[in-house]
Amino acid sequence: MDHFHLRDGELYAEDVPLARIAEEVGTPVYVYSRATLERHARVFREALAGAGETHIAFAVKANPNLAVLRVMQREGFGADVVSGGELARALAAGMAPEDIVFSGVGKQTHELVQGLDEGIGQFNLESEEEGAELSALAVARGPRARCALRVNPDIDAGTHDKISTGKADNKFGVPIGRAPEIYARLAALPGLDMRGLAVHIGSQLSELRPLELAFQKLGALLTNLRTTGQTVTHVDLGGGLGVPYKATDVLPSPAEYGAMVARVTRGWNVALMFEPGRVIAGNAGVLLTRVIRVKRGVNDPFVIVDAAMNDLARPALYGAWHDFEAVRPSNQRMTANIVGPICETGDTFATGRDIEGVAAGDLAVFRTAGAYGATMASSYNSRGFVAEVMVDGDKFAVVADRILPEAIAGAERVPDWLD
Ligand SMILES: *Cc1c(COP(=O)(O)O)cnc(C)c1O
Repeated sequence: MDHFHLRDGELYAEDVPLARIAEEVGTPVYVYSRATLERHARVFREALAGAGETHIAFAVKANPNLAVLRVMQREGFGADVVSGGELARALAAGMAPEDIVFSGVGKQTHELVQGLDEGIGQFNLESEEEGAELSALAVARGPRARCALRVNPDIDAGTHDKISTGKADNKFGVPIGRAPEIYARLAALPGLDMRGLAVHIGSQLSELRPLELAFQKLGALLTNLRTTGQTVTHVDLGGGLGVPYKATDVLPSPAEYGAMVARVTRGWNVALMFEPGRVIAGNAGVLLTRVIRVKRGVNDPFVIVDAAMNDLARPALYGAWHDFEAVRPSNQRMTANIVGPICETGDTFATGRDIEGVAAGDLAVFRTAGAYGATMASSYNSRGFVAEVMVDGDKFAVVADRILPEAIAGAERVPDWLD
């Protein structure tokens, strides 16, 4: 459920007409709904009410905007970060260091040091090599680093290859078969406080079965570790729950996910941690765009909009679908290709799509753009960085300025030896 809806024939975000935002801020612009973010956070938390002690860390990479993180912080969420930059954002948004989990396969020395110095809650180690480096850094600084070992359960998440992370040949985690020996060696290091396990098998999962299989494998590993005398007090079950990108998609609900988690983890006797991203932010945002012109094609016409693949990369990257809706729907329909202005055929949002009839100057939105949207933006074709807005009831605020092409060019230099 979200708070983007038609009122008197016009699309609103909560109580704000999207046309007003387009007029005041320009397009393209991402629009987030605070009420939707809060609703999703609450639904997710309530879904886990039967799973014992739980800690929820919002996956910052899904939407790192400071205002979005602030909403998560106010909902009692911590943060799952994958870089020093994300760690700094989580802290700037007011998250407590102990509520921050540091994931990622390539944490650099300066990022490990940053995590240690900030006293974050947990490092999810992705290799024995990383653990050895972190231990040495921690010994030199004092307090031990609280750590979980991320295991690769070799499960096919059944999602797009590029966002699948739990197969044996993916770069993430240590092979589950080798986890017991690696855990034991890491636990023996002086700078680490090994306290648990972590798993995250991929994103936009449309079925619970792969998650359940991964969690079961983790449960067996947990038992194995304890039998050999290891301590395991925390298990991080990652994120990955998918969202409906088409109005007609049916996805497992957070409640079904929570019930599965409670069933599989019964008797584990650990604190459970979660790292949801997309399921919280995805449907809480739209990308608002204006039709530049409609161009006749050999077959279907091209609806050329002012948003492009640099603003919303998912269709170009993963062939992803985003519903396209007119802000002031007409009663006609048309079949069209929806494209951006970028000089690359990859800049295509939809091909042969049945949509509401639109004409030059009309406003429209790409739905479900609140996660992996603005955060993946680039300035390709020197288009600048897209602006972001958050709506709260009948008011809105610009939560990220549009970064103009001039500002980006202003950071570049021609060396004097080219004069
Ligand atoms: C990306 C990521 C997440 C969030 O995934 P969603 O599909 O957005 O829920 C969680 N944990 C880790 C380690 C990640 O890399």
